[in-house]
Amino acid sequence: FRKNRFNEKAILDRLLKGNKTALGQAITLIESNQQAHQSKAEFLVEGALPYAQKSVRIGITGVPGVGKSTFIESFGNHLIEKGHKVAVLAVDPSSSVSHGSILGDKTRMEKLVTREHAFIRPSPSGDSLGGVARKTRESILLCEAAGFDVILIETVGVGQSETTVHSMTDFFLLLKLAGAGDELQGIKRGIIEMADGIVINKADGDNIKRARDAKLEFNRALHLYPEKESQWKPKVQLCSGLHGEGISEVWEMISEYHKKVQENGFFEKNRHEQNKFWLFQTINEYLKNRFYQNEQVKIALKEQLELIEQHKTTAFAAAKLLLNIR
Ligand code: GDP
Repeated sequence: FRKNRFNEKAILDRLLKGNKTALGQAITLIESNQQAHQSKAEFLVEGALPYAQKSVRIGITGVPGVGKSTFIESFGNHLIEKGHKVAVLAVDPSSSVSHGSILGDKTRMEKLVTREHAFIRPSPSGDSLGGVARKTRESILLCEAAGFDVILIETVGVGQSETTVHSMTDFFLLLKLAGAGDELQGIKRGIIEMADGIVINKADGDNIKRARDAKLEFNRALHLYPEKESQWKPKVQLCSGLHGEGISEVWEMISEYHKKVQENGFFEKNRHEQNKFWLFQTINEYLKNRFYQNEQVKIALKEQLELIEQHKTTAFAAAKLLLNIR
């Protein structure tokens, strides 16, 4: 068995039967930067692809502490009880810096992690956002091929990671807290524009009234945005991940969305657009890596940086010279 641990054909076989160990091994190959693993990873992704389109992909974002893990624990268990198979992935490019991912952390999803029909995987680390994104996207395909029909992709509100998760999901859910009355000021406009649903979390105990106020405020704000291409009007809901309240309503909202966009054709169109986008992303990432990993480029880059420091060349001249290295 040991010898076969990374036998990609055996892994693919078991993965397609829904084996979670094989799925984990396959994702490990995808996440590996070793040359020998990369061709195996390609084999797996290609083998999985024909079986990989039947899920709902849901992006979940919100600042640290908003209750993402707690929400996913409740939401995931709810979905499993409804007969779904749930995979939880994370996109967290900062985890390489902070040493230890704060997303997809299994210790914070205590019950979900024990369920047969749940698969939880923390963010790949030690990589650029582009690298993390590609790996996550390929992992989505593998999870789908392994029979997971709901994929939750968690991310924190830092940098570009939300845009990245938005570009690989069907529904984008923003978790918010009812706060000091300035909900709408401290939040990036772009995130609201991306959201298909806003959930005011921790709507429990003393928080309920403030949560209701926040809901009104967000609803008012959403009216000011132009209609989405999906023709879906984003909804605002209250929820308590901790007490499991409002959880089934979130799933109802997502199901309603799913039905609508399948009927009006946006679902397919959006996935096609995303695929095209990822084609270019992959090419860009590949070209960039090939360039920076070129030994001659590495040496010349060092020289050019020194020359720039000594004011002996310009950034543009240096760039041109480096780009001409074959
Ligand atoms: P994350 O950083 O977004 O993943 O947030 P966590 O899920 O780790 O939650 C952060 C803290 O908020 C924890 O102490 C949770 O127990 C608490 N919390 C999460 N959800 C709720 C909720 O619905 N109501 C209340 N009152 N507390 C919650």
